[in-house]
Amino acid sequence: MFDASALRHHLATAHDLNASATVLEWDQETYMPDGGEDARAHQVATLRRLAHEHFASDTTSTLLARAEAETPADPLVVVARRDFDRATLLPPRLVAETAEAVARAKSAWRRARETNTFSVFAPHLERLVALNVERANLAGFADTPYDALLDLYEPGLTARVLDGVLGDLRRDLVPIVEALAAQPRPDDAFLRARYPTETQWTFTLDVLRDVGFDFQRGRQDLSAHPFTTSFAPADVRLTTRVDEHFFPTAFFGTLHEAGHGLYEQGIDEHYARTLLAEGTSLGMHESQSRLWENQVGRSRAFWAHYLPQAQRRFPDALAGVSLDAFYRAVNAVEPSPIRVEADEVTYNLHIMLRTDLERALVEGRLAVADLPEAWNEAYRDVLNLVPGTDALGVLQDVHWSLGTFGYFPTYTLGTLMSAQLFDAAEDALGPMEGYVERGDFLPLLGWMREHVHRYGRAKSAAAILLDATGQSLDAAPWLAYIRTKYGALYPGAGL
Ligand code: ZN
Repeated sequence: MFDASALRHHLATAHDLNASATVLEWDQETYMPDGGEDARAHQVATLRRLAHEHFASDTTSTLLARAEAETPADPLVVVARRDFDRATLLPPRLVAETAEAVARAKSAWRRARETNTFSVFAPHLERLVALNVERANLAGFADTPYDALLDLYEPGLTARVLDGVLGDLRRDLVPIVEALAAQPRPDDAFLRARYPTETQWTFTLDVLRDVGFDFQRGRQDLSAHPFTTSFAPADVRLTTRVDEHFFPTAFFGTLHEAGHGLYEQGIDEHYARTLLAEGTSLGMHESQSRLWENQVGRSRAFWAHYLPQAQRRFPDALAGVSLDAFYRAVNAVEPSPIRVEADEVTYNLHIMLRTDLERALVEGRLAVADLPEAWNEAYRDVLNLVPGTDALGVLQDVHWSLGTFGYFPTYTLGTLMSAQLFDAAEDALGPMEGYVERGDFLPLLGWMREHVHRYGRAKSAAAILLDATGQSLDAAPWLAYIRTKYGALYPGAGL
């Protein structure tokens, strides 16, 4: 064990440097004045560079090799090897070229979106696709370069497995969305009444406390784009934003981030200051946020508990709104061109078509110049609508401008896993409805802590899923959840 502990001690320095950079990034999104931008960029870059040099060093290589000889199955050793190989795989030239290409692409994407001119972004996107293909070729892959990119965000996932699951999902989901879209839209005008900002803010804090977020080991602040970040399991930061004239923005945004934050707070303290002290994959992370936002937060039982409170807090907006009317409003299904505004049913169609398109780009089956047309065609096919402009279409998401390809599918993986995990928790604890109606969230949280959270990166997403649910990744449980819930909400749809 001597060498694994020497390795652990050595890597803690890199971890501290990275966590410090993360504190600065959190501050940048929450409290830093605009004037701090240049100085902050240097500070973060310096810390990240020092962390990288320390981590990708000969010392790490030596300690890692010794630890592998002695305790090859130690999860820290396994994860350290994976991260070390990844950190040292790319020649410095490629790292520098990618960083520069991303910096240029980000501002080009912003300009392209503001002026609705795809051609401004196109050459930068071409460059980022080429750099990603180069990276995939260096990493190696079995079937397609897309495999190597998926592995960056969802370790172990292959395009072949993804194809199977998304194929099942698409076959059933497209007709479900068609049937729901043909139904009259429920009245949700009261969600756009005035909800005073201060009252919304305290409501989100109270709900965070109720679901088990620990304010001794975390906090919530405001930011333009909500996110969750962790410096340690004992210091987890959430952000939300408040729209005074749209209730769901802050409330469901907070519940979503709460799911991410509860995961980070639930990681075994023993893993603090190691590579294991974070969620195991983006998909597993998203399973937790979707579970609290949708399975719990958009359930009828949840609002049986919270609507009376909400009506006391917002008497002008919600007087006379019945539980059924509220429940229908926060679950309105309507195909729209914008992913981030999509309801939980149509959301995954947005992800599927992005997955198809980015994979075609990476595999060289689609030219960047043809992307806007392919995008609009896919929306026509799958959601039966055409975005009015490229700004509302192919240019809407930041992901590709950051050079991330293979990230989008993790949103859908999270959705599917959330249903599998929720079902398993109900098998163990009994129907959730009764607990949720009483505002008793701790049994569900306790189950997630036990079966998911505590492992951090010490256990893969696939192993967590299999041990916790007895199944591998499967679209059927989520489809069953959607049919049951929306079949009752929209009896005319015949689901
Ligand atoms: Zn999320």
